Amino acid sequence: MGTTPYDWLDKSLVALHRAHRYREVQTIDGMARAVVQRQGQTLVNFASNDYLGLASDPRLAAAAIAAIRTYGTGSTGSRLLSGHRELHRELERAIAALKGTDDAIVFSSGYLANMGAIAALVGSPDLILGDEYNHSSLKSGGKVSGATALDYRHGDVAHLQDLLETHRDRHRRCLITTDSVFSMDGDLCPLPEILNLAETYDAMVLVDEAHGTGVFGTRGSGAVEHLGCASHPLVTVGTLSKALGSLGGYVAGSKPLIDFLRNRAPGWIYTTGLSPADTAAALAAVHIVQHEPQRRAALWSNVRQVMQQLDLVLGKPVAPALVLRRLPSESPIICLGGPSTEAIVRASQRLQQAGLWVAAVRPPTVPTSRLRITLMATHQPAHLNRLIAGLQEVVG
Ligand SMILES: *Cc1c(COP(=O)(O)O)cnc(C)c1O
Repeated sequence: MGTTPYDWLDKSLVALHRAHRYREVQTIDGMARAVVQRQGQTLVNFASNDYLGLASDPRLAAAAIAAIRTYGTGSTGSRLLSGHRELHRELERAIAALKGTDDAIVFSSGYLANMGAIAALVGSPDLILGDEYNHSSLKSGGKVSGATALDYRHGDVAHLQDLLETHRDRHRRCLITTDSVFSMDGDLCPLPEILNLAETYDAMVLVDEAHGTGVFGTRGSGAVEHLGCASHPLVTVGTLSKALGSLGGYVAGSKPLIDFLRNRAPGWIYTTGLSPADTAAALAAVHIVQHEPQRRAALWSNVRQVMQQLDLVLGKPVAPALVLRRLPSESPIICLGGPSTEAIVRASQRLQQAGLWVAAVRPPTVPTSRLRITLMATHQPAHLNRLIAGLQEVVG
């Protein structure tokens, strides 16, 4: 029996299974609301990024259907070739209005927006300094750009300053990149301090608002607004696929920035324009974010309640069966660290048996395994009570 160049695949899969790192998709039937049907089981959904419950909102569906009737299902080309519709411009203007920026540009995904923006803004003579916990798309953008990319310790402004002091002078342009709300931790970046350093060392700042947009700020603009930094020059990136309940990504910023990206971002130029349905759904969502602050209020009320009750539950057990530690979150993403990947996976399975969908996030997505709970505006008190009771059971 000969070997083939693909034999390593089977071996790698076996190794993944052994390390409890093998992953599989989970099939949801119907709409992903606060309660979902998953493979015959009814589960309260704490694994969604649909913070405001808009992905199943009939107004988004109606807007998407109307757009399909008017424009068809596909954009049929890249935006610069034949794929541009007035609907795209309307969405870009609406995002710019939400963000308080001159303009915005819409990409096919948030991942592509980060890759496209970073690769356009910096190249081999340049320096990227990124938070070590940044999203994969920011890291990939750094690699694709060819710039020298260095990580600073998570949220550590002193370390960022050290790196600027040592490396800034040797490079042409410098770009600091950070999630505003860290997707697998739920904490916020120290944006005011980062912006101060950026000014001192002549650096651009790219902030990823994937989990901030629609969730933070009195206007729902995002964590940049919440942190009082909206008037600073920034490259703001985000996604249409989380609180906005659709699909796609964007960059918002100054007119020259957006103009430049339209001419120089390969991930925008060489890919098909966002579908009419996704574009229209996102546009409807931006209007809802602006006109229905009560959704944000309901979300934050749920966040406060769960955090308070969690601290009681986790602080209490005398001889806990499992020690869970709440990571320092300031958002609807609440993470509980545990002793091992195996323990976290088992806890997630036990919660599932209790009718609760809480994701086990493990390496290589994160350095240490954790339960990741995401809250929605549409969770009812009974849902939250069940979560707390389930966790109480797990910690023993
Ligand atoms: C989800 C996410 C993205 C990617 O957005 P998509 O639209 O899903 O491709 C980028 N950055 C962060 C921080 C994210 O959480």
